[in-house]
Amino acid sequence: MLDLASLRVLVIDDEPFVLKVLVRQLANLGCAQVFAFERAQDALAMLEAGPTHDTMVFCDLQMPEMDGVELVRHLGRIGFAGRLALVSGEDGRILGTAQRLAQAHDLQVSAALNKPVTPEQLRAALGQQAAAHPAGAKAVAARYGADELAQAIRGQQLVVHYQPKVALSTGAVSGVEALVRWNHPTDKLVYPDQFIGLAEEHGLIDELTHAVVVQALTDIRSLREQGWSLRVAVNVSMDNLVALDFPDRVAQAVAQSGMPTSSLVLEITESRLMRDPLAALDILTRLRLKRIGLSIDDFGTGHSSLSQLQDIPFDELKVDRRFVHQAHSDMSVRAILEGSLSMARQLDLHTVAEGVEDERDWAFLRASGCDLAQGYFICRPISVAALLPWHLQWQARVASLTSSTA
Ligand code: C2E
Ligand code: CA
Ligand code: CA
Repeated sequence: MLDLASLRVLVIDDEPFVLKVLVRQLANLGCAQVFAFERAQDALAMLEAGPTHDTMVFCDLQMPEMDGVELVRHLGRIGFAGRLALVSGEDGRILGTAQRLAQAHDLQVSAALNKPVTPEQLRAALGQQAAAHPAGAKAVAARYGADELAQAIRGQQLVVHYQPKVALSTGAVSGVEALVRWNHPTDKLVYPDQFIGLAEEHGLIDELTHAVVVQALTDIRSLREQGWSLRVAVNVSMDNLVALDFPDRVAQAVAQSGMPTSSLVLEITESRLMRDPLAALDILTRLRLKRIGLSIDDFGTGHSSLSQLQDIPFDELKVDRRFVHQAHSDMSVRAILEGSLSMARQLDLHTVAEGVEDERDWAFLRASGCDLAQGYFICRPISVAALLPWHLQWQARVASLTSSTA
């Protein structure tokens, strides 16, 4: 969830009026620590004075003294660890070039925004910030050691829970998403936000993903033997998309399970996609050639990678839950939801709304033309053994949920 109260936000623009508007918009969104600068040098001095990970910088490109491109270079030099949103009143191509430059300096760019900036765009840019730093991730990462996690993966302490994806029009279950948990010997069930980052940092993510893929395929095969055919979606980390043999390893696991490749979908997070689009493109294209499904996850949190959507052969788009729950009553949430759905339609992608938490969300999404829904309202993530009993209950609920015209 967004923790805007503790996020430090620096806004830099030489135009006092623009600066004032941005600061007010950010405050309205719930940012409690906003600092305004008319000169980039002054902002840089503040950033140089301490740690920068919980920081977001909104920076204008055209400024008389130190301009945005120069600031980007300095941010690279000081190892700025927060996120950057570039803002410009100029040609979109300049913005694109500045963004690539920032990425080449290893900076995390959440957004490239044309003036005037809307509150929705600001909110999305900030959402990106929250996604990259799940609350408490750092504190917990220190709690578990990499050796302990490696043993957990090898010692089969990972368990996989499943959350159904259902058709909004009919209620039919099209598949499930696999969500990993760590059945820790003393801490009971530990959630992925607390160890995925650790796995990525210590080179364990390939092994972890492989374990989840194998378990997920085993579980849907056992369901198929009981007469229920489902697709299963597994989350992959961007770090999985750097090893060029990843598609072959996945295809091998599918072959060994005896399931068709089309029964596996990989969910990839959009915000992480932006970092190294070329290496990822190679791997994703080969996965697609093997008929493995590709889903773009958490969509809406990183608008700047939209152009890459055209290049990567996705077949499904999942709208992030931040733009789903309460879209019926929050105008800016709804704008992002509707924009995402209409773009998905143009690109011929199936759409999934995640985070459907109540009947109002369900009714609103039915009316919006989204294909599939996932969320607590339908089913929480549950063990494979609990899926069939849930399905019986769901079939009883479905009639009333799909008869009403929303
Ligand atoms: P995600 O891919 O966005 O998965 C959906 C998360 O939202 C899950 O959290 C799920 O329990 C939660 N959720 C589902 N419905 C609702 C709802 O109606 N409301 C709300 N507020 N939340 C809902 P979970 O299981 O804690 O997973 C967190 C994240 O960890 C996942 O986000 C995914 O990015 C990552 N993850 C999970 N399993 C794996 C894995 O095997 N490999 C990798 N690399 N990442 C994983
Ligand atoms: Ca997912
Ligand atoms: Ca998601």
